[in-house]
Amino acid sequence: MHNYQLLINGKLVSAPDQLEVINPATGKVFASCPKGGLETLNTAVTAAQAAFAAWSNLAIEQRQACLVKLARSLEENIESLATLLTQEQGKPIAESRGEIQGTLAHLYHNAKLDIPIEVLQDDEQALVEVHRSPLGVVAGIIPWNYPIMVALCKLAPAVLAGNTFIWKPAPTTPLTALAIGELCQDIFPAGVVNIVTDNNDLGTKITTHPGIAKVSFTGSTATGKKVMASSASTLKRVTLELGGNDPAIVLSDANVADVAPKLYGAGFGNCGQTCVAMKRLYVHEDLYDEMCDAIAQQAKAAVIGNGLDAETTIGPMQNAQQLEKVIVYLEGAKKDGKIIAGGNVPDREGFFIEPTVVRDISDGTALVDEEPFGPILPIIKYSDVDNVIARANNSVYGLGASVWGSDLNKAKQVAARLKAGSKWVNQHGATLPHIPFGGIKESGIGVEYTEEGLYEFTNIEVIHLLK
Ligand code: NAD
Repeated sequence: MHNYQLLINGKLVSAPDQLEVINPATGKVFASCPKGGLETLNTAVTAAQAAFAAWSNLAIEQRQACLVKLARSLEENIESLATLLTQEQGKPIAESRGEIQGTLAHLYHNAKLDIPIEVLQDDEQALVEVHRSPLGVVAGIIPWNYPIMVALCKLAPAVLAGNTFIWKPAPTTPLTALAIGELCQDIFPAGVVNIVTDNNDLGTKITTHPGIAKVSFTGSTATGKKVMASSASTLKRVTLELGGNDPAIVLSDANVADVAPKLYGAGFGNCGQTCVAMKRLYVHEDLYDEMCDAIAQQAKAAVIGNGLDAETTIGPMQNAQQLEKVIVYLEGAKKDGKIIAGGNVPDREGFFIEPTVVRDISDGTALVDEEPFGPILPIIKYSDVDNVIARANNSVYGLGASVWGSDLNKAKQVAARLKAGSKWVNQHGATLPHIPFGGIKESGIGVEYTEEGLYEFTNIEVIHLLK
């Protein structure tokens, strides 16, 4: 059995308490690892503070080189990491490989970014320069749905900008973090990257810690609000990537056969546990019956199982608590709409639920208005485009949205009127390293990826020299 350890100050260390990790495909404990506590967190912060001066003074090329080394190291270990990811998270092995490959793209992209000095004025009167300096110690608080990708998309820009980093994985998916910690040990100087696990009990200790300058958080909107409130006590910078209830609007000129499989993928990938999953599908009345049948067919063809089995197309929910939550939405949907695929919790070990499609359901029901975060999709009929845009926008969330149709100009015009950080046409959920990503309204504050995301890990310092 692998001996997982925390990475603190360049050393792999144990801790007095252990965290048991459950394989969601069996519902049974399959490994354990050390559980960090306040003492571990304080040691990690002290180490990160001590490492900051030397790390931030390196030439950026040296920090870029570390990101390239990390990417290569992940690439060399992709099979073992993907297997571990499926074991602790549940997603099918192909999706685990996909998560790591996506992460590699982000690492390589970050490794090419620079933080140049911006000259705003240089004339006979004055020289004005904008310098972007690192903040200090940055903490990344990570959810369980994309444990590798979300974490490394914070770590990479944070350390590239010259900050040092504390990585706190979700309590149910700590193992891939610790496995990557072993790789980081040989790549980064001591204290630059530290990994502290918890059992949902260190979040507030991080957000109130006087030694931490910024928290980059991805998780639910409810927890995000707590992060923002408690970060105020030390005036920490925060980036919040939160929940969503992404609408998709299918226009009357869409080709059902073409778009149905794509819509299914957008709603049910990672068992519906994706922040930018398509979570409510509005279909024009002319196509409604045909679309409901086509999506139901996709759901019925899904192969439920352990993600390590090659034929599995949909794995379990990540944890028992999330399964319970989705079952409540399922029971509500049985009253509020008509189930046309799935609708059952299979009688087997693990946290499985059938991919479920619900038709004849409307706005104002829990399944349509809230974020279930599971494999259950409501399909809602509409007749008027202006009206459906208003309904799509009638949400506290504003993460992603999509429009589907053959007339690309018309689809783009509809997309432009939707209120979301990312608006896709004839696709849903693409998040790529060269495109800024973030939510509006209660889906978040700030963006990730690109220079815009990188700059969120810096302070602006201006030099204004009178000549
Ligand atoms: P969660 O909010 O329960 O937990 C996220 C992390 O916060 C975990 O590491 C947890 O231990 C930690 N945490 C718990 N209490 C805390 C506190 N009081 N202070 C600080 N940290 C605390 O979220 P989850 O259930 O792990 O993830 C699912 C949610 O994340 C969904 O709502 C999903 O939409 C959202 N999400 C958003 C994005 C995005 O980029 N916008 C990406 C992935 C997931």
